Formats: sequence, C-alpha cells, structure tokens
Amino acid sequence: MEVQEAIQKITSQFPNGVQLVAVSKYHPKETILEAYEAGQRIFGESKIQELCAKEQSLPADIQWHFIGHLQRNKIKYIVPFISLIHSIDSVQLLQEVNKQAAKKERIIPCLLQVHIAQEETKYGFSLEECKQFCMRKEWQDLENIEIHGLMGMATNTKNQQQVEQEFESLHQLFCSLKESCFQEHAYFKELSMGMSNDYPLAVAHGSTLVRIGTSIFGKRAYT
Ligand SMILES: *Cc1c(COP(=O)(O)O)cnc(C)c1O
Repeated sequence: MEVQEAIQKITSQFPNGVQLVAVSKYHPKETILEAYEAGQRIFGESKIQELCAKEQSLPADIQWHFIGHLQRNKIKYIVPFISLIHSIDSVQLLQEVNKQAAKKERIIPCLLQVHIAQEETKYGFSLEECKQFCMRKEWQDLENIEIHGLMGMATNTKNQQQVEQEFESLHQLFCSLKESCFQEHAYFKELSMGMSNDYPLAVAHGSTLVRIGTSIFGKRAYT
C-alpha cells in the first residue's frame, strides 16, 4: 500500500506529458509487483544481470528502461526486450547498441547521457560534445537505434540554484536540438531528468521522464 500511495502522490503532481520511471534496482520482485498493481508499467534498472532476472519473472507488459552505466559486452543480454536505454555515454556505445540491435532485428530507443553535474565521476557527453555529435548526423546511418532525447543528472547538492542551472542547461540543449537536427524526427521528445531529491526542479525545467527510486520504494540496501 505504501508503494501505491507514494506513486500516486508523486504522479498526481506531474503536468501532462511527464512519465514516471520507477527505479527498482536492488528491490525484489514482490516490491515491483506492488507498483505494477498500482498501474506502474515503466521500471528502471541499472545492473544487467539483475534486470535480466527480473524481466524473465515479471509481467511481459512491463517496459524496462536501462539507466546505469552500460558495458559494451553486456548489451546483447538486454537487446531482445529493452524499451529505452537512458545511458548512452559515448559514440562507440551507441554504435555497439546499433550493431547488436541489428542482429536481433530491433530498433532500440536510446537517450544520450549528458554530463551536467560538477561531480567528476559521472559518465556522459559534455553539452558541447553532445551538440557536435548530433549535428554531424552520423547517427542517421545507425538504422537500428533511434535517439529519443537526452538524459542528465544534476549535482547532488542542497544548492537549488545550481541544480536548476544544470537542469536548465540540458533543457536548452534539448530544445535547440529538437528544433534543428531532429526536426524531422518526432521521436526525439524525451528529457530524462530528476531523481527523488530533485525531481520537482527537473519537472519545472522541462523533464518528461523522471527516474525515482527511494521516494517510492524506500532506502536501498546498496547503492
Ligand atoms: C538510482 C538512480 C536513480 C534513482 O535515485 P533515487 O535517489 O533513489 O530516486 C535515478 N537515476 C539513476 C541514473 C540512478 O542510478
């Protein structure tokens, strides 16, 4: 019941067009089913093995999103079923996803992960690298992926102004790419920003996919 209440409380504040990705990493199947029964269908996971085990034993109409750092040699395990990869952090990774997706005759929706935080450990393109890559249009030759938008994580800080500034910088890039390189590609429409501690700011700055774990499922045993 708690899980259902948390989901309802969070999503009732979302404007139209914003979707919840329930981040279920490190939580057991039973907990996921509670959210499923509340109507939640999009779940985010960050470990390949854990994701594959859950996918096999949970309802087939769940849309699984991958949100963690993706190693190239593990792409093949999620290609048959993944519905969105949020965490494309290099051109090489995107090319490899394309290659693996071609083998399975799938077209896989992907987001480009952009490094907007000040923390050094976060993966991703810089704003400038992302812009340059999109403008080169070589992604148009990758027939088995579609770039559905951008993803970013703000710095983990109490400084709201900084967090807002980081989200806004990604929002600006998103809008400008949508109107330029992706103008003829209506699928470019997702901006994945916001976690438990900063999602209201992310939504205020144009997020369309909010990735929330702790505020729904409680604390994880590991992070
Ligand atoms: C774990 C994780 C989240 C969810 O974080 P919470 O603080 O538990 O809401 C969101 N995005 C990514 C990329 C994560 O790894």
